[in-house]
Amino acid sequence: MYTKNVEIVEVSPRDGLQNEKLQIVTADKIALIERALEAGARRIEVASFVNPRAVPQMADAEAVCAGLPERGDVTYIGLVLNMRGADRAIATGRIDQLGAVAVASDGLGIANQGQSSDQSVDVACEIVRAAKAAELTGQVTIAASFGCPFDGEVAVRHVVSMAERLARSEPAEIALADTIGVANPAHVAQLVSAVADAVGPVPVRIHCHNTRGTGLANVWAAVQAGASVVDASIGGLGGCPFAPGAAGNVATEDVVYMLERAGVATGLDLAKLIDTNHWLEGVMGRTLPGMVARAPLFPAA
Ligand code: ZN
Repeated sequence: MYTKNVEIVEVSPRDGLQNEKLQIVTADKIALIERALEAGARRIEVASFVNPRAVPQMADAEAVCAGLPERGDVTYIGLVLNMRGADRAIATGRIDQLGAVAVASDGLGIANQGQSSDQSVDVACEIVRAAKAAELTGQVTIAASFGCPFDGEVAVRHVVSMAERLARSEPAEIALADTIGVANPAHVAQLVSAVADAVGPVPVRIHCHNTRGTGLANVWAAVQAGASVVDASIGGLGGCPFAPGAAGNVATEDVVYMLERAGVATGLDLAKLIDTNHWLEGVMGRTLPGMVARAPLFPAA
């Protein structure tokens, strides 16, 4: 029945939680990771190694790493914005892959990590090389690929040229992130295919936020255009920092429902993801934006 396979990267422990005001205890973060593993996740973004004063939610990154289940078949990703973060992630001895971030606009680059767009490409390449030198792998996400909260529209040709420069460091993957949830499916299809053409055989990953309700349509467009990896967050946790109160990342269970029903295999267990959504709502003390978990299972188990 399946015509295609897509890998899902579970980002709830990092991108999902990062902007949450409620400080989640380390044990609950590890429980979330264990539940994602139980549902079949094999790549998980577990923490970011950033300044704890800027992102208090990630202050326990090292403690989360120390509690990670020892699994030979799982890739644990640590997000890093500079070499200091890369060194911290490597020093844990528990991170398998560094995720670097290049930014498609100067406005967000400077606000988020004190780097212009060009500088962020150089730093990301340096992080990928450091990952390899430490016998890990490294990949890069291009943030604000579809629009910037400060600078507005982002040109396709600029993102393609960034991807070409990043590809020279031979990353494991290049991701296109709709950081503020402004993309539409036509733009996604155009950019994914242009970047895939420019950097092949490096795989292209897509990272969508559902801030304006286009998240699932954008994931579908990306998969059709050649993205082989999709970021998603259980429950749709992960608000956009520039749109308080808006919906978060695309929900893993919603993405899995859509793709599997459409004949694309994800390797994830929908019922276990829905259970985790309900558990996570208890941890967070609120209803989460994911939709599939609020509807009856179909087809019934
Ligand atoms: Zn995000």
